[in-house]
Amino acid sequence: MDLMYNSTRSTDIQVTASQAILKGLAPDGGLFVPELFPALPVPVEDLAGMSYQETAYAVMKQFLTDYTEDELKRCIRRAYDGKFDTPQIAPLVSAGGAYYLELFHGATIAFKDMALSILPYLMTTAAKKNHETKEIVILTATSGDTGKAALAGFADVPGTRIVVFYPKNGVSPIQEKQMVTQKGANTCVIGIHGNFDDAQAGVKKLFSDKRLEAEISAEGFCFSSANSINIGRLVPQIVYYVYAYGRLLADGVLKAGDPMNVVVPTGNFGNILAAFYAKNMGLPIGKLICASNENKVLYDFFETGVYDRNREFILTSSPSMDILISSNLERLIYHASGRDAAKNAALMGELARTGRYALTEEMAAAMRDFAGGYATEEQTFAEIRRVYGQCGYVLDTHTAVASSVYHTGFAQKCGDVPAVIASTASPYKFARSVMTAIDPRYAGMEDFALIDELYGISGIRIPRAIEEIRTAPVLHDTVIEKDEMEAAVRRFLAR
Ligand SMILES: *Cc1c(COP(=O)(O)O)cnc(C)c1O
Repeated sequence: MDLMYNSTRSTDIQVTASQAILKGLAPDGGLFVPELFPALPVPVEDLAGMSYQETAYAVMKQFLTDYTEDELKRCIRRAYDGKFDTPQIAPLVSAGGAYYLELFHGATIAFKDMALSILPYLMTTAAKKNHETKEIVILTATSGDTGKAALAGFADVPGTRIVVFYPKNGVSPIQEKQMVTQKGANTCVIGIHGNFDDAQAGVKKLFSDKRLEAEISAEGFCFSSANSINIGRLVPQIVYYVYAYGRLLADGVLKAGDPMNVVVPTGNFGNILAAFYAKNMGLPIGKLICASNENKVLYDFFETGVYDRNREFILTSSPSMDILISSNLERLIYHASGRDAAKNAALMGELARTGRYALTEEMAAAMRDFAGGYATEEQTFAEIRRVYGQCGYVLDTHTAVASSVYHTGFAQKCGDVPAVIASTASPYKFARSVMTAIDPRYAGMEDFALIDELYGISGIRIPRAIEEIRTAPVLHDTVIEKDEMEAAVRRFLAR
């Protein structure tokens, strides 16, 4: 019997894992969720001896049951290979009283690579299984990290094309350079005059345009999504929490069954939701600590039970967490309501209408393993300075938010339970903020000079992703108005 997926907003939609991955979003606007949480297929003590790829297979086969063993193992083998700069794929590093789970060793040096390295293989396998013969067109809006990771994953993958829209003046210089130098005949990168919300709204509009869908379908295309609303991004993210537990066992930090806490710098709530899924599979996780930057809508939510996006949007030095509507929270709401699709749909309706909703006592109780914290910009920079000063270990700004939240609010309360902090980006990706946090004198330097300085003070080898863009030619220079997105997609498809 296959594990089926249903929508968070209605009870009558049921699809297999491969169909859910192919579609991305449920037709009623909800997100696909598994009908139950499968258990880990091995006793936890066995995790200590398992490689990343073995762990990935053990976890993913429980969720993606309509993939054959052969198919899934092939996807895993091709995803987690030499693209990563360490055979451990996701090393766990002990520094200053916590464990940093480094999720940035993939092709684009942010944690999005953990899932977007495998999603293209899962997607093309799903197309074959479901006899989808149309070319799959991935539409993506990005504030920086998802765009490049999706481009790297889908570049030159047969049967797919990918279009990425980014806010022309809303990404870091390194992020922009990474995207506009992307190779691959099936890739298209477009800057828009507007912000990330405009890009996201534009993409959603293209997705829901039935007339456009019919037209491109007649031309042999279908749309899909590479953002974290796709369950095909969530499932691969469960793996590294299970793998981290195995490393703590192997290193003798934990005995099988002892709990670990996780601390996750959060934006769209995908990464921490994957930890929640891992816990529900039976992995001994104690607290799930959700760390926000100054856009602390989630902190307020976990403190008060009220979600309220009616507030100022703040631009911070951790831009991938600058978000006021965390899409994946919908999946937690659904689970916490006892899988009540009607109740979830009502709350999401309220959010759309008023920008706000309140949990019931029962739902809040069902979320008691979660705790929220936040770090201001000053606290974030102070944490980078503190950890570098104490142990010479350099955090990126996003990881520093989580580290600050843990060390200022939670470390004492957590006693002997080890904390695994998700380290979501290489400091090289945010070199300017990181270096000026360590010493304000760096503020006057050029971006690539800062890269060399960072190498000088950290000794961490400069990642290939950075070396590549130093001299790479710009291949994408289209910039459009935000109401020209449909025309741009049509032009690309006519190519
Ligand atoms: C995307 C991203 C996050 C936020 O992850 P979510 O799954 O959206 O909560 C945090 N840090 C970095 C560096 C990211 O790219």
